[in-house]
Amino acid sequence: MIKTENYSLRAHNTFGIEARARSFAEYESVAELRMLLDEPFLHIGAGSNLLFTKDYDGMVLHSAIRGVEVIAAGGDEVTVRVGAAEVFDDFVACCVERGWHGLENLSLIPGEIGAAAVQNIGAYGVEISACIEAVDAVEVATGRELTIPAADCRYSYRSSIFKSSRRGELVVTHVRFRLSRSFTPDLSYAALRRQVEADGLLPGSVDAQYLRHAVIKMREAKLPDPRVTGSAGSFFINPVVPAEKAEALQHICPDMPAYAVEYGVKLSAAWLIDRCGLKGFSIGGAAVYERQPLVLVNRDGTATGADVLALSHHVQREVYARFGVEIVPEVNIF
Ligand code: FAD
Ligand code: NAP
Repeated sequence: MIKTENYSLRAHNTFGIEARARSFAEYESVAELRMLLDEPFLHIGAGSNLLFTKDYDGMVLHSAIRGVEVIAAGGDEVTVRVGAAEVFDDFVACCVERGWHGLENLSLIPGEIGAAAVQNIGAYGVEISACIEAVDAVEVATGRELTIPAADCRYSYRSSIFKSSRRGELVVTHVRFRLSRSFTPDLSYAALRRQVEADGLLPGSVDAQYLRHAVIKMREAKLPDPRVTGSAGSFFINPVVPAEKAEALQHICPDMPAYAVEYGVKLSAAWLIDRCGLKGFSIGGAAVYERQPLVLVNRDGTATGADVLALSHHVQREVYARFGVEIVPEVNIF
């Protein structure tokens, strides 16, 4: 176990924002984790969904639990238990290599395995929860180890119990994935189907390697590379509004994208922000990314957390003033 006092978090958040933690501790096992649960803490992964707006006056915890272990295999399926500190996209690459399928559409999403299960990461029509069998966690109050079946994680759009009702109460140590040994591409997302067509392929000839690389190519064309330009990906969650509200907006803006979901109509936050003319708008070193306005960036590396927060408030106000729609951050703000 490593514990350091007065620790810079700049390398631990993909916004690349300077903030200090009173202490920072990294543990390699459940036993080591239990020894750290006595004082209040903030648990982070790779910091790709975090915004620090001030120093953190407490202990920041990070897992160093690694490992990819096959725990069951039979018929068409394989169950794999993965340590929370494994890099999510390395695991996707490993799955494609070994012929374990289901995660291809989630290629290149930054972050670690533990947070991926907390966030219920999603892209191109797939959510990680579709491949999760169970999540292993330690209960902070008791130190007990729990294996929580996916059905009890209450997965929904970019959410789970780890983000909502049990926020801060559970530390994810491992995630158990159930993957398929046969490959059926999920091309339900229109932009992905268009890419397949543009590459001159028929859906039937799409293999897992191709699908992974098509997704990577699309993401690289549109999203900032966190190693070059700081961001936390999409800053806001796409809003879900009542059907009547969506209809009223479409009456005024017939070209507005809208997707029926079970609890209302999902709108594209990127489209709403774009229509407010905010692409490229900046406050201090923080800017609305030109190629994808749902992403707020640390344009030249000089942004403070306060700049990003002020920009996010401005964007929220403009969208509300123009469309009467509230957009809320996906990013965890501290
Ligand atoms: P962090 O940002 O460090 O933490 C995220 C949350 O998880 C925090 O609340 C933290 O407290 C909690 N947490 C972390 N580890 C644990 C643990 N072991 N136990 C309990 N709680 C924990 N997201 C998508 O869904 N889809 C995308 O397509 C996507 N694209 C992105 C593109 C870019 C360029 C960037 C920068 C981000 C993108 N994201 C996307 C957001 C981000 O990658 C995900 O939310 C990711 O899962 C965060 O992982 P992390 O390890 O960086 O977690
Ligand atoms: P896009 O294709 O330009 O689409 C804009 C938005 O419309 C997306 O956010 C998507 O919602 C929604 N959408 C498109 N087709 C849909 C459909 N058939 N049904 C329901 N919703 C649909 O999006 P993009 O910016 O290039 O991103 C591509 C994918 O990567 C998206 O799935 C996006 O979520 C994901 N991504 C996420 C982050 C993040 O940080 N969370 C960052 C970058 C990319 P969904 O977001 O619900 O898919």
